[in-house]
Amino acid sequence: MKLARFTTSGRTRIGKVIDEHIVDLTPVLGEDASMRRVIADLDALRPAIEAFQGPAYALADVRLEVPVPDPQKFLAIGLNYQKHAEEAKLAGIAIPTSQLWFNKQASCLNAPFDPVVKPDDSDKMDYEIELGVVIGRRCRHVARETARSVIAGYLIVNDVSARDWLPKSPTFTLGKSFDTHGPAGPWITTDDEVPDPLDLGMRLWVNGELRQNDRTNDMIYDIYDQIAHLTTVMTLMPGDIIATGTPSGIGAPTGRFLVPGDLMRLEIDGLGAMEASVVAETRS
Ligand code: MN
Repeated sequence: MKLARFTTSGRTRIGKVIDEHIVDLTPVLGEDASMRRVIADLDALRPAIEAFQGPAYALADVRLEVPVPDPQKFLAIGLNYQKHAEEAKLAGIAIPTSQLWFNKQASCLNAPFDPVVKPDDSDKMDYEIELGVVIGRRCRHVARETARSVIAGYLIVNDVSARDWLPKSPTFTLGKSFDTHGPAGPWITTDDEVPDPLDLGMRLWVNGELRQNDRTNDMIYDIYDQIAHLTTVMTLMPGDIIATGTPSGIGAPTGRFLVPGDLMRLEIDGLGAMEASVVAETRS
């Protein structure tokens, strides 16, 4: 299944995406359903969701929203692709010897086709395509061997980064958390529809130029290692989003940072695509 949040006629609802259409699941899930709750109850809800046939909207006619707007956690791992770690090393950043985790604040989540704002206070804004993992059940001390069972599904994350703000907080929190710097979507593709999350092609273009083009099999710590490591420390909850690292090809090594007017396109095999323009900041 592909589960999305979408808005039409001023109302935001949860739907299932089928090809170029979206079916409103309100009759199944009720008014005011939350994606976190749907994910938590997915095993029980799945038969009704799959069987439901109702009016469908063309995707082109609706606004897609962040699939999980209110995750309890939005975690991300740094320097987790071999070739990306090597390009960072050339820039003087040491390759970490253990998993390097940081928080993106949930307030930076951004709808999959919404503009990304270049802050006036940053001149080094960069893109990072990442496989996003959405946790499906409350879990702690998960073994690598069973880690896949706690995954609800996957989405694309753009871990937009203000490179000049990363050194301003040792935990990266500020440089990773400007408003709009967490595009996520376009929907959640449930785990059963992804044959092997450890081998997905991922591509990011800026203004039509392919900048990142790799596969998730270049990860240093794969997503099961990541879940095992994180749950050594903390309980993961349904709806938590984990951004699992970006491959090589970021703008920083060549100094090609994002500027207003740029257009980013991101694709991951089987998960769909997102597009975002870069706009200048306006303060109200
Ligand atoms: Mn990242």
